[in-house]
Amino acid sequence: MTHDLILKGGRVIDPSQKHDGVLDVAFTDGKVSGFGKDLKGAKEIRDVSGYIVTPGLIDLHTHVYWGGTSLGIDADEFCRVSGVTTSVDTGSAGPGNWAGFRKHVIEPSQARILAYLHVSHAGIYGFDHRVMVGESGDLRLMNPIDCVEVADKNRDYIVGIKVRVGLHASGTSGTVPLNIALQVANEVGMPLMCHIDHPPPSYEEVIGMLRPGDVLTHAFRPFPNAPATAQGTVKPEVLAARKRGVIFDIGHGKGSFSFKTTRAMLANGFEPDVISSDVHKLCIDGPAYDQVTTMSKFLCMGMSLNNVVAASTVNAAMALKRPEYGSLKVGSLGDATILTVKEGKFDYVDVVGEHLMGDKKIASEGVVLKGKWWHPKRTSKFPKVSA
Ligand SMILES: [Zn+2]
Repeated sequence: MTHDLILKGGRVIDPSQKHDGVLDVAFTDGKVSGFGKDLKGAKEIRDVSGYIVTPGLIDLHTHVYWGGTSLGIDADEFCRVSGVTTSVDTGSAGPGNWAGFRKHVIEPSQARILAYLHVSHAGIYGFDHRVMVGESGDLRLMNPIDCVEVADKNRDYIVGIKVRVGLHASGTSGTVPLNIALQVANEVGMPLMCHIDHPPPSYEEVIGMLRPGDVLTHAFRPFPNAPATAQGTVKPEVLAARKRGVIFDIGHGKGSFSFKTTRAMLANGFEPDVISSDVHKLCIDGPAYDQVTTMSKFLCMGMSLNNVVAASTVNAAMALKRPEYGSLKVGSLGDATILTVKEGKFDYVDVVGEHLMGDKKIASEGVVLKGKWWHPKRTSKFPKVSA
């Protein structure tokens, strides 16, 4: 047998190879081992004709420190149903509670988990229905020295530094936490992911401080601190940041994505670099739900399917600086997602309560993780074909 598993006859969309067409994809020893027509010889062959096959989806903004932080959800449960093979936790843990995240969540999970480490000592510790304390509001919690040490020792899982600034997350501290986080990111040579909410600080101030390769999350948030002006143009600071190489990530969540902002940005030809859900306990039952629902909103608003897939695969991998993720090139990580695009009428809602009647819905139908079929509920839909 040449391969462990072959997915046969699907429409393979892999923007990392600029490919969109019917092909077979094979996996062996946890990696992609074949990409081409009429692949043969495998222990297991699954017929996925009529379905879309993409590289395993990356959700660049999630909160999966289940049990250790009140906002955390279970990564494996979430990933199985939403087509995600890599869940990137963004700042749930800081240097003070990283060890538990690594030992009790990341290492035992089946789904891949990577993380941005928060510069605040205990990460996002006070985020719940009845308690909402911004972890960047008290500057005594900023812990740059330990953050550098923990990030440096855990480069296998930590991909960058996280900071949250805005009235809710940092009170009146303005850009001070961002400044501290940038010093940490420079010290360890990692990208930064910066959250933004209500001013202060302003969107313009924040984006002006980000370096090429840094990620602004909640990039298409509603007023105040939206990237578009009241006239529907893109703020010049936003255009300048994109030119400089700042990465714009959606991070939908419960307060950070609006149709109005998105309509204005797309009308100006400004698509997000990365689409992510920012799924956590307070938005998993709406309005964000999951990665495929967030992707569906962009598809319904006019982004092409290929660009939507790119924004959840190769572009996210570039933000992570891990090209072996988000691709079906031979030798890449053996992850794939099987999707359908359903036609019909689907009701979508954003964080300010605006409804949008969409005509398409992206649904996850199956997942291959580390070279193995990983979607327990739907196996009958893709019967094994004799090898
Ligand atoms: Zn978040």
